[in-house]
Amino acid sequence: MKSVIASNNLKKRSEIALILSGLGIGLLAADETRFVEVEEDGETFADNARKKAEAFAAVNQLPALADDSGLCVDALGGAPGVYSSRYADDLMKEPGDADNNAKLLKELSGVENRAAHFICALHLSFPDGRKPVTAQGRVEGSILSGSDGKQGFGYDPLFYSTELNKSFANATTEEKASVSHRGRALRAFAKQMKALV
Ligand code: IMP
Repeated sequence: MKSVIASNNLKKRSEIALILSGLGIGLLAADETRFVEVEEDGETFADNARKKAEAFAAVNQLPALADDSGLCVDALGGAPGVYSSRYADDLMKEPGDADNNAKLLKELSGVENRAAHFICALHLSFPDGRKPVTAQGRVEGSILSGSDGKQGFGYDPLFYSTELNKSFANATTEEKASVSHRGRALRAFAKQMKALV
């Protein structure tokens, strides 16, 4: 089954491709995919994943898989949550990972409770209106007091994984996938897909 990934985040794309390889789902490359701007104004990760998947499925006329994910910090009442990719946009236009990370460290300065988790919601939408396939994954950890490591993307240098005993940015792609929110969501998704393809 040929499908598109509704994301132009190259790191996310490669994490998705790694886990779905061998599943009989042919993922189109980014340069073969028609990209659409989707306003991520949903209240939940699942809402945003559905919006992205439906828009990409309609434009590409192919099944489209979307991932919406983010970091939820206990001491910040679950923030940045669905605003993870644009957390620092009150401070600047189009903040990047380093800007979002700097804001997070500032917000948590002097805060003792560093508990946090990542959530990933996946949604596969079909252009012919078939029932979508959805899955979610979650990983627990804590926010470090400074960056540690160079791998990955987003908040990886600040996220200490309790299960790996290291920051996500110090983990290989395979190690991260073995415990990550995206890895877990993709494995749950893959289980459902096996029945379909
Ligand atoms: P999305 O593209 O709207 O789903 O935004 C996801 C945002 O959440 C990213 O820009 C990152 O800031 C953060 N995020 C999601 N997954 C990860 C991850 O695996 N590592 C680090 N940051 C992540």
